[in-house]
This record gives sequence, C-alpha cells and structure tokens, in this order.
Amino acid sequence: MTEIKKNTVATVHYTGTLPDSGEEFDSSLGREPLTFLVGQKQMIPGFERELMGANAGDKVEFTLSAKDAYGEHNPEAVQKVPLDMFGDIKPEIGMTLMTDLGPIRVSEVGDDSTVTVDFNHALAGKSLTFNVEVVEVREATEGEISHGHVHGPGDVHEQKSEKTCNDDGCC
Ligand code: ZN
Repeated sequence: MTEIKKNTVATVHYTGTLPDSGEEFDSSLGREPLTFLVGQKQMIPGFERELMGANAGDKVEFTLSAKDAYGEHNPEAVQKVPLDMFGDIKPEIGMTLMTDLGPIRVSEVGDDSTVTVDFNHALAGKSLTFNVEVVEVREATEGEISHGHVHGPGDVHEQKSEKTCNDDGCC
C-alpha cells in the first residue's frame, strides 16, 4: 500500500472548521474529493505535513496555526479606498470583490466616502481544523512529477481542473 509522501498523488475528502466557533468554512463532502500532487506546494503547508505517512482509509484530524495555513493577517494589506472606486456597486461589510489584484473583502464602510478593504485571504490569521479521510494514494507518474501537477488517466492532463497545464504548454 502506498502511503502519502512526496511525489505521490493523494485523493482525500476533507472538512475544514474554525476551532473557536466550530463553523465549517469548506468541505469536499457532497462533491468530488480533492486530488493533489504531494510535495509541490499546491496545498497550504501544514495540510500536507499532517497527512504524511497516511494510507487510503485513514482518517486524520489536525488543527493548524495560521502560519501553517493561510498565514498571519497582515495589517498593511488593509487599506482605505475612495467609495468612488466601487462605481455602481454598493459596498457592504463582508462583501468580496474580484479585482485585478485578487479578491478583496470589504471590512468597513465609512461615513466619509471611504471604504476599508482587506487584501488578506479570508482565512489569514486563523487556526484551522481539518478532518480528512484519505480516499486513495498512488505513486505519481513521471509526467506529473515533471509538470508539477496531477494528470488524468493515461498521464494526460485533465483540462477542467487545472489551468496551469496550458500556461506552461506541457499538455
Ligand atoms: Zn501537465
């Protein structure tokens, strides 16, 4: 049986919760399990580390500190911007907007025609608990290791799940 280690392809179901409130922030249950190439920094750092050595069928629960998950909350990534920037959109607290710089969240709407926006990942600064069930582990193919991502059957990249493949023209 193959255990999870560098250059294996792991397929897992997971549920992520916030340890303080118990609130679920993400889960693969009810959809396709998550498949990733281990050791290629596709996942947050602690996630892979905690799964090392696990086999198909194993259930693993762990809590990651913010630095092993989405990083500490960076106060410099919180900025005030003019309300005008939103055009026709009425900003509301908690709203996430896609911009050229990535997703930003509205954290405060001021009375003075300014809006405070936060460029941090929504889970930055938070400890995260994961319940993971390992569905399958296999050795990665040579093609996968050289490309740095998971391929479909026959060592052919599945276009639907990744865009990195087209970017480097590998498949
Ligand atoms: Zn590829």
